Amino acid sequence: MGVLDAFSLQGRVAVVTGANKGIGRALARSLAEAGADVGLLVRDPAAAEPVVAELADLGVRTSVAAADVTDRDALVAAAESITEELGVPDVLVNNAGTCIHKEAFEVTDAEWDQVIDINLSGLWKASQVFGRAMAQRSDGRTGGVMVNIGSISSIIVNRPQWQAGYNASKAAVHQLTRSLAAEWAPLGIRVNALAPGYVRTEMAPVDDPRFKPRWIDDAPMQRAAEPAELGPTVVWMASDASSFMTGSIIVVDGGYTVY
Ligand code: NDP
Repeated sequence: MGVLDAFSLQGRVAVVTGANKGIGRALARSLAEAGADVGLLVRDPAAAEPVVAELADLGVRTSVAAADVTDRDALVAAAESITEELGVPDVLVNNAGTCIHKEAFEVTDAEWDQVIDINLSGLWKASQVFGRAMAQRSDGRTGGVMVNIGSISSIIVNRPQWQAGYNASKAAVHQLTRSLAAEWAPLGIRVNALAPGYVRTEMAPVDDPRFKPRWIDDAPMQRAAEPAELGPTVVWMASDASSFMTGSIIVVDGGYTVY
């Protein structure tokens, strides 16, 4: 087997949460380009239609499942329907996330809870639901890979757009990643996190003149990433190319955190 064969996801089933836009959509495409059949877990199935059309052109199978990641019952139903259509997932990319941009004194309890519920508890619930499926395959085989989308916001404090809850949730995601990696290693389930820097999506207004001086002009590479630039790293993390890696936090930030 040549080294590039280890990056192939042919015959694998990959699920991406929040796959309808931004980073999740780009990652779904990259996983499909590597050969995976892809489960698109979205809140609104209609929003996934353009993604389904895009992936169909690549010749892979897709399955759309509607679930809010805060809703355990919906996640269980989504896992069942994806498994029925594509097979037991081999890869889960925990990408769904949200952000509240407010000064700490202005954040309400409801806003705090929303960020933690989606970014941390939602990721936890999806990991538990899909992890159980990976650990209890009908053929007795166990194993799988999880890629959690963390953030450099767990390392640095984002400014001048304050977001204490977001930063805290992403730091917790990194430590949850390490905890599950340790606990599930005996089952053959690897769990790693990707910590991106600024990526041009709806969530990150990188061209906003209020933020551009610090986020872009001060950054070593003086630009944000395009979502598709994260794809090859996630394919590596999801494939046998990273077979000895678990519990790792992979920073892809254009050098932002070097200073
Ligand atoms: P977007 O706002 O473009 O996309 C967020 C995605 O998450 C959407 O598909 C959204 O669905 C989905 N989502 C939000 N809440 C829920 C929920 N409760 N249940 C299911 N799906 C949900 O943001 P990005 O693409 O930028 O963000 C993707 C991930 O990357 C997030 O975890 C984010 O924190 C992380 N990240 C982003 C960075 C950036 O600079 N952009 C940097 C570092 C990390 P819907 O369309 O229905 O709202």
